[in-house]
Amino acid sequence: MSAGELGAVTAGPPATSEQWTRRYGDALMNTFGTPRGVLVRGEGPYVWDADGRRYLDLLGGIAVTVLGHAHPTLTAAVSAQLGTLGHVSNFFATPNQVALAERLLALARAPQGSRVFFTNSGTEAVEGLVKMTRMTGRTRILAQEGAFHGRTMGALALTHKRAYREPFEPLPPGVEFLPFGDAAALEAAMDDDVAAIVLELVQGEAGVRPLPPGFWALARRLADRHGALLALDEVQTGIGRTGEWFAFQHPDLGAGVQPDVMTLAKGLGAGFPIGAVIGFGAAGSLLGPGQHGTTFGGNPVAAAAGLATLGVIERDGLLAQARDLGTRLTRALAQLPVVSDVRGRGLLLGAQLRAPAAARVADLAMEAGYIVNPVTADTLRLAPPLILTWDQVAGFVDLLAGLTPADLEEAR
Ligand code: PMP
Repeated sequence: MSAGELGAVTAGPPATSEQWTRRYGDALMNTFGTPRGVLVRGEGPYVWDADGRRYLDLLGGIAVTVLGHAHPTLTAAVSAQLGTLGHVSNFFATPNQVALAERLLALARAPQGSRVFFTNSGTEAVEGLVKMTRMTGRTRILAQEGAFHGRTMGALALTHKRAYREPFEPLPPGVEFLPFGDAAALEAAMDDDVAAIVLELVQGEAGVRPLPPGFWALARRLADRHGALLALDEVQTGIGRTGEWFAFQHPDLGAGVQPDVMTLAKGLGAGFPIGAVIGFGAAGSLLGPGQHGTTFGGNPVAAAAGLATLGVIERDGLLAQARDLGTRLTRALAQLPVVSDVRGRGLLLGAQLRAPAAARVADLAMEAGYIVNPVTADTLRLAPPLILTWDQVAGFVDLLAGLTPADLEEAR
């Protein structure tokens, strides 16, 4: 097919970043503000903008593109499935959907009876989680301050940030936000009317904040004692992000203690939209016939992307690679004069700066060809592809090493 023919059914002739940005502003709802750039191509950990500039993608589509961009195996798997059977209604099963569910349950070492529901996004996976909590017959949910679980109404009810919530109230009731990582507050709030404790082992959007040691195990004990569900949102932390398949398997994070309900999305399709909510053991049967549904969830192409993603991570040893690079990056960043703290595990890292200059430093990095996210006023978030190597990222560390605390003050 010629470029002209393809152009007739795709975005059309090339334009500059400036032209696309203007058209974006006219055609798209202004929910994200002005785009930071217009990206047209990717390869490995790199992306190119409409003006031909190359960037190292240290944000990975916000913890999504675990295999980097345009990975040949992912591309082949998705193309082959799309060219074979692109979609079926949920009156039918497909082999990909079944195989992906089985694979996820095996990787999570989920017990007998555990089951998966596929979605198209993280927030939808959380909606499934919320519905599962309602099936307990209880409505109280204990969440954490700083939590982010998505933007649809049920997920938003679990999301703490006021600015995200307030315009849309009333939200589904019953959610209580407890001070982050406060064991005494959790113990005090816990009772036999609690449907679920909902946690992230590392709060990504709150600045890459891991729960304090022991908190997860305490939540497990309290949930068991009071017959509540322990629900874990691994939308950001799952699929190798922390150097383990799931954060709950990380010795420093969940130490292998399983949740009852777990959500996934982001990295699961490595850029193809797919999410999942998993019920462990008895929780696998909380939702029965007629109690939930979706047209696209578990679509055979999305499931092919999921299978290819998990397959490549395993085949290429990307968990170990992410662990090793994460350790090396953490050490390197922690030594920099402008960095006061490095949080997170594997390739979900938050580098806290000595001043609230994250936005300015992210701008400087972008000018130098690095995409990094100022997740809070003082913290840069790194969530790069798991295929990233030290040689590729060393220049970014050098860039930060060239800054002094005085530069940060100037940048404010
Ligand atoms: N949960 C967590 C922990 C997340 O980080 C996010 C996305 N940042 C979501 C849920 C929502 O996922 P999505 O954007 O795919 O709806």
